[in-house]
Amino acid sequence: MKKGLTETVTGKKLYGEKRKATENKCHFQLSRSASIQATVVTFEQLEGMYTFFALRSIEIAGEFVSYRYPGIVTFIFTAYTVYLKSPMITSDKLKKIKLTEELIRKLPKVLLHDHLDGGLRPNTIIELSQQHNPSLPENDPEKLARWFHEGANRGNLTEYLKGFSYTIGVMQTEHALHRVAYEMMEDMKKDGVVYVETRFSPLYHTKSGLSYDQIVESVLRGLKDGARTFNVKFGLVICAMRNLPPSSSLEMAKLAVRFREQGVVGFDLAGDELGYPPKDHFDAFHHIQRNNFYITIHSGEAFGKESIWQALQFCGTHRIGHGMHLKDDIMTENNEIIEMGYLSRYVRDRRIPLEVCLSSNVHTGAMPNLRYHPFPIFYKNGFRVTLNTDNRLMSNTTLTKEFLIAARSYKLTVKDIEKLTLNAMKSAFTHFPERLRIIYDVLKPGYAQIMKNELDKLDNAHRQKHSEHQKI
Ligand SMILES: [Zn+2]
Repeated sequence: MKKGLTETVTGKKLYGEKRKATENKCHFQLSRSASIQATVVTFEQLEGMYTFFALRSIEIAGEFVSYRYPGIVTFIFTAYTVYLKSPMITSDKLKKIKLTEELIRKLPKVLLHDHLDGGLRPNTIIELSQQHNPSLPENDPEKLARWFHEGANRGNLTEYLKGFSYTIGVMQTEHALHRVAYEMMEDMKKDGVVYVETRFSPLYHTKSGLSYDQIVESVLRGLKDGARTFNVKFGLVICAMRNLPPSSSLEMAKLAVRFREQGVVGFDLAGDELGYPPKDHFDAFHHIQRNNFYITIHSGEAFGKESIWQALQFCGTHRIGHGMHLKDDIMTENNEIIEMGYLSRYVRDRRIPLEVCLSSNVHTGAMPNLRYHPFPIFYKNGFRVTLNTDNRLMSNTTLTKEFLIAARSYKLTVKDIEKLTLNAMKSAFTHFPERLRIIYDVLKPGYAQIMKNELDKLDNAHRQKHSEHQKI
């Protein structure tokens, strides 16, 4: 006869208010005649390391019934059962998991700030250019990729934006827009991204006579086909451009709202910040606000904290694109905060998400190098930070690479990557039930499983080493 925990039925999710809870039915055989059947509910803390538990029902059979202190037995039993199901992983143990590129790629990730026209495959640009736009600076995929990267990496946003004339140049037909969107979804799948919000401005795709509606429909078709084939969820963000007239921004805002039932999830203001404050585009933001829709604004990237303040308090943004200059509102010493202004307190206290893009910030010259980047200050002091790619082609990056860079530069563990990913999913513009579903059905079980596998591998390696040592 097998003693101990013989059966557990786990994973039944409890819905509604208790969505974070999991019900575990356990059978515990104490001896031939004594057994315990119990239902234990575990409550997971969203960002913490601990699992709380509660006993929902318990049936004790056999000699145990006469036990004089059932309360104590119940407690010990419950603790033991939950311990078996959810071994506590300490941060010391997690530090031993080596964050390689291969491991980070396997982790389920969420990407909120990625430009569709900044992530084309070099080969696709070459093929599409043969049909639409014959002149490219290079016709070999590798050389072309290098050309984009070297052009972007000049420490200047205006230079950085030049490469877009070629990517946008080939995205002028329904076929090209569909293809670029579909391939982006495939690239996300390969990179381990489970939910992506991609963005672009239809304003630049009318050269062959497409209407704004046709442009958005083509991209959405590509994203939907990609979602079906690669099982990646998506949301599309429509960008207005700060350097174009405010009337065009209002048109983009109306377009975004019109397609909200087809996969558009929000509205963004992009482009060079210097000399183009977001408040010039009031009408567009007010249209979004009056329609109860969602806003993110590139701000605090190439211009100071005033740009962030305007985006928040004049334009009603829900997220901040980049936001590094929020650091101007924080006084620090050795990465510890000494004093904060009211703006940075507001951003932290209201949980305003920051869409940080490390490589892009260095390439555009917004930051001289990663040592000066305020990411660790924001992250370690409770800001809602997310990590993003911005432009994968121009910055020669992927979300995996961005996490690898962050892990190496700021000593992150796998638990930090999980937290940044949960931050991103909580900040996504998709509906709340969808966010919860991805967090509790995909992200949390995904990280738990991968962490367990990695720790098992470490234990096995340790055991093997120990036994070899004994043989000697
Ligand atoms: Zn951007």
